[in-house]
Amino acid sequence: MMNYKIAIVPGDGIGPEVIGQTIRVLDKVGEKFGHKFEYTEVLAGGCAIDASGTCLPQETIDTCRASDAVLLGAVGGWKWDTLPGSERPEMALLGLRKELGLFANLRPALLFEDLAEACPLKAEIVEGGLDIVVVRELTGGIYFGEKGTKDTDMGLAAYDVEQYAEEEVRRIAEVAFDMAMKRNKKVTSVDKANVLESSRLWRRVVAEVGEKYPEVELNNLYIDNAAMQMVRNPKQFDVIVTSNIFGDILSDEASMITGSIGMLPSASLATGNFGMYEPVHGSAPDIAGKDMANPMATILSSAMMLRYTFGLSDEADAVESAVKKVLADGYRTSDIAKEGENAIGTVKTGDLIVEAI
Ligand code: NAD
Repeated sequence: MMNYKIAIVPGDGIGPEVIGQTIRVLDKVGEKFGHKFEYTEVLAGGCAIDASGTCLPQETIDTCRASDAVLLGAVGGWKWDTLPGSERPEMALLGLRKELGLFANLRPALLFEDLAEACPLKAEIVEGGLDIVVVRELTGGIYFGEKGTKDTDMGLAAYDVEQYAEEEVRRIAEVAFDMAMKRNKKVTSVDKANVLESSRLWRRVVAEVGEKYPEVELNNLYIDNAAMQMVRNPKQFDVIVTSNIFGDILSDEASMITGSIGMLPSASLATGNFGMYEPVHGSAPDIAGKDMANPMATILSSAMMLRYTFGLSDEADAVESAVKKVLADGYRTSDIAKEGENAIGTVKTGDLIVEAI
């Protein structure tokens, strides 16, 4: 029996509720497939501020580092909204990314056939569902480049430098190609190589990495074209790899296509398969404690953990199929229920998914 160590960071608001259901799902997977998942729960966010005065205690960092993966709910809430920016619960997320070396952000945009009506695109464009992963470089590029202001003939100017080193591009490209090998073997690299020097280097290095993956088809698209293609014909995409700023925008565009925020998982990866898995949504203080949160985003995040950090594809498939079955059977939490439809709660959703596994 394999043992997997998971650091659990429930956080605030609906975080503990959606994490609670996800642990039940993982336990069921362990029982069915003969694995042991060992959980160590640690504090981050507002609850950590209340308990220890800091949003990211050292113990949390140490426990995460000593684990195989991290599963996070969400942080933040009204109670801490008046704190100055640098002391807010959300700083825990930036701290974790930095301390754990999480350089690759993965955002799948998965449109379940049974939720097709939530998609703002025409039905024929997304017929049969949609399954894209945006792999975004997370620790480099213009958000982290040199920045400042200077006087010019035109008045005060401000600048932010977009810069990528070969190694930064290589490691993110490898994540994308590895991912494509586990999926439909297609990578689209998005850049602006017709204008930007940094994009020309990006494109060259991605092509070099691509040579090591002869089975994977590589395409290049300019960001403006990619943004259009995403709404014109999103089914052409499998894995998209792109820089920090382009990925920021494209991953939001891709996730809008799928409808509800309560359905969107994400992962942030470091070298060596280590990763932090979390839903895209926040702590939803408006529905916290009311058994109303949709736990599917977090449960689907745990499926990503099974697939990408633990290499357990059958187990990941089982979780994703169970979510699909619950939707196909017509069950909906309030965020995805149609008007007048009876919604089920967080715990009932967990029950049904566990049962379907
Ligand atoms: P939010 O994602 O928490 O909520 C936005 C809306 O979506 C709310 O109406 C909420 O009820 C609904 N919603 C979100 N998740 C849902 C789910 N699983 N099921 C059903 N409905 C759901 O965003 P917000 O309101 O802007 O932020 C609330 C708090 O969360 C803030 O403190 C913010 O800083 C924090 N936040 C944290 C993270 C994170 O931890 N990764 C991300 C975003 C926001």
